[in-house]
Amino acid sequence: MNNKIDYVIHFAGLKQVGQSEEYPLKYYENNVTGSLNLFLEMKTAGVKSIIFSSSASVYGDSNLRIYSEDSALKPVSVYGKTKLIVENILKDMHSSDPNWKIINLRYFNPIGAHSSGLIGDDPKNAATNLVPFICKVAMFNKEELLIFGDDYNTIDGTGRRDYIHVEDLADGHIAALKKLSENNIKTLCIPINLGTGKSYSVLEVINAFEKASGRKIPYRITKRRPGDVGEVCANPNFANTFLNWNAKHNLDKMCSDTFKWIQMNSNL
Ligand code: UDP
Repeated sequence: MNNKIDYVIHFAGLKQVGQSEEYPLKYYENNVTGSLNLFLEMKTAGVKSIIFSSSASVYGDSNLRIYSEDSALKPVSVYGKTKLIVENILKDMHSSDPNWKIINLRYFNPIGAHSSGLIGDDPKNAATNLVPFICKVAMFNKEELLIFGDDYNTIDGTGRRDYIHVEDLADGHIAALKKLSENNIKTLCIPINLGTGKSYSVLEVINAFEKASGRKIPYRITKRRPGDVGEVCANPNFANTFLNWNAKHNLDKMCSDTFKWIQMNSNL
């Protein structure tokens, strides 16, 4: 090993709920086998501190609206199941060797872009997440947005999610790294929610994006997407206290930074 590695942050993975239902093997192979290979290498190298990019989708559909770290784990989608399997592998590793220090960051819905407009999301395949798809419509690459269901048990019937600005998410990782490096932390294996504690419906996101961009986003309601749930919102209290971190940016800022990114990179 040429470099001294103290910590690993494992971000890599396939991340589209809808696609995971269509290609389960691809998701299990990439997300689970890929993680396993990394952990084996870490063990060989004697590196035992890791921050893993998990997801709120491990909570699945428990008929809750707000999820704390100790809420039941019932992933609905294949994507969510792959994240839970990896969390469980990490838990077993920690049980067998308490020298491991593990933080599973459960991301809610990261959107937005770096406020410089220089770093943002550029899906290689067809965009399927809400905000990347809205961007395609805003840039006239798609005619309309399909809203997946308006019959959920939410105020306007469309799905509600806890959207978090990517810069806040990045700060959450720095806070987690600082925690792992504290002298008194000798052993650790915990999940931590990274969310704002506020959820927005698909229609509210469309409105916020229209306001930020000055562009109309035509949409049509269609049926629910397999694997989707009505509302997912974080209880971020544990991250607030344990990591001394909290999300700072609101939905308007998430939308204006996204629009800046796509305008500065109009070849996307
Ligand atoms: N959604 C939608 N149309 C789209 C993409 C997403 O109505 O083209 C909805 C989806 O049903 C969910 C929300 O937007 O309620 C966020 O979906 P996304 O795929 O961005 O994230 P997820 O929560 O599924 O990880």
